[in-house]
Parts: sequence; structure tokens; C-alpha cells
Amino acid sequence: MQDLKMREASCACGDLRLTLQGEPEMVSSCCCTRCQRRTGGLFGVTVYFRPAQMIARAGAEATFHRSDGSTTFHFCPRCGSSVWWAPDAAEDVIGVAGGCFADTTLPSPRRMVWTEHRHPFVRPPEDIPIYEQGPD
Ligand SMILES: [Zn+2]
Ligand SMILES: [Zn+2]
Repeated sequence: MQDLKMREASCACGDLRLTLQGEPEMVSSCCCTRCQRRTGGLFGVTVYFRPAQMIARAGAEATFHRSDGSTTFHFCPRCGSSVWWAPDAAEDVIGVAGGCFADTTLPSPRRMVWTEHRHPFVRPPEDIPIYEQGPD
């Protein structure tokens, strides 16, 4: 059997760490204002995995349940990095913050969504689908 790729995502202080096994299902970038505020960056990158691919999780975490009831975010209570999240409506997927891998071999986003909130500074690649609002 072929060895599965292992990746580690961690918060800024290193306390909260996830180990993900295998390739992500999808990588997506999002310019919405919620992602901007959550990350402090001008857009967010979400790396989607199946929950079973998270084979280890270490460190304390706190949660933030978004007021629209759609998503629960898990963040480090010490440094505040939001590391991963789970949509309330789907049990078969989790999102991990792309930046928390700090790994340039991570697959590139395959789409950019909510570009109606895109800062002019952020230039999406020309070869991926762009959605002014959410994906279809
Ligand atoms: Zn931390
Ligand atoms: Zn977003």
C-alpha cells in the first residue's frame, strides 16, 4: 500500500496541532468579510479533509460558534489562531486553515469565492473558477 502523505497544521504558538493524513478533498480560497476578520488576512484559505483524516490532535482548544449557526471554529486559547472548523450541516467534512500548515507544498486553491469582497491587492489566478459570491 502506498504511503499516505502526512501534514501537520499548528497555531501560531504551537500548542494546538493537528495531524492530517492523505491528500485534501479540496482547497478553496475565500474573500468574504468573515474570513477576513477571522484570519486577519485579506482572504482565507480552507483545506478540506474528511474528519477521519485528522488522525491526531494535541493541545487545548476553544470554540467559536458563528452567530449564523453554520460553523464551529476551533482556535488556540493561548495565541488565538483559528486552526480548523466544522460546518454544522455536514458531518463528512472539516476545514483546516491553509496558513496553519506553513507549507508551500500544500496544493493550491482550486477556486476563489466571495470575490465581491476581494481587495484590489488580491489577484486571483486566471486558471481557477472565480465566484462573486458563494460556490454553486
Ligand atoms: Zn497557540
Ligand atoms: Zn469566507
